[in-house]
Amino acid sequence: MSSRPSARPAARRPLPKAVLFDMDDTIFDHALTCRDALRAVRATYPYFRRLTLDTMWTEYSRLLEAEHPAVLAGTVGPDVVRAERFRRLAALCGQSLTDREATRLSRAYRRQYQAKRRGVSGAKGLLERLHGRTVIGIVTNNQVDEQETKLSFLGIRPLVHFMVVSEGVGVAKPDPRIFRIALDRAGAEPAQTVMVGDSWFSDVVGARSAGIRPVWFNRFHRPRPEPIPVTQVDSFRAASRVESALAGNAGELRGPAR
Ligand SMILES: [Mg+2]
Repeated sequence: MSSRPSARPAARRPLPKAVLFDMDDTIFDHALTCRDALRAVRATYPYFRRLTLDTMWTEYSRLLEAEHPAVLAGTVGPDVVRAERFRRLAALCGQSLTDREATRLSRAYRRQYQAKRRGVSGAKGLLERLHGRTVIGIVTNNQVDEQETKLSFLGIRPLVHFMVVSEGVGVAKPDPRIFRIALDRAGAEPAQTVMVGDSWFSDVVGARSAGIRPVWFNRFHRPRPEPIPVTQVDSFRAASRVESALAGNAGELRGPAR
């Protein structure tokens, strides 16, 4: 009886030496926390119901994104820009707010935001799964206090070896220097490292500029901004698939968007 060698599965690559994660909308769920807080604000301030929740969220996110570089640069404080953001949002609903009203509204939002905070679904479980098997770092653009508070709130401090915050090191993603600082903290070379994040510009482009392989966390199924092959995951809940993507196993690499 002739025997043929059985087909063997391709060898699975091991995890990289270091895995770097973005914080906001990769581990901490800013987007859905923000949406819930805005929903609560609408319940208290009826003029916001002139916008749908989706539109309010989109406009709020757009204003936040536009202001973020100035906050990162320290040229304006987060409380000031938050009040201004709500003044502009109210103006879109035909409501003119005094500075005092805008400040009161922004504080009401902030209280709701703090109360509704949560992690991205599956993120903590993924960190627990990776813990002890690779060096885990966080590379994030924000204020140090804000990000330290999130680490504690999420209960992930024991799972993370280090966190590099733009405010703390004076340089922000996508600048390759912030990734080099993280590599130094991890004791890893770029080729031994993967960066996971939701922002194409900050995380994917930034990591590539430092020679680090990016994994794009695209849970909202956004179109790929550039036709370059980048590994993508849209959820952390299927941890074994995510792990395979981190390892760079065949089948996880997605080509250019059609
Ligand atoms: Mg992010």
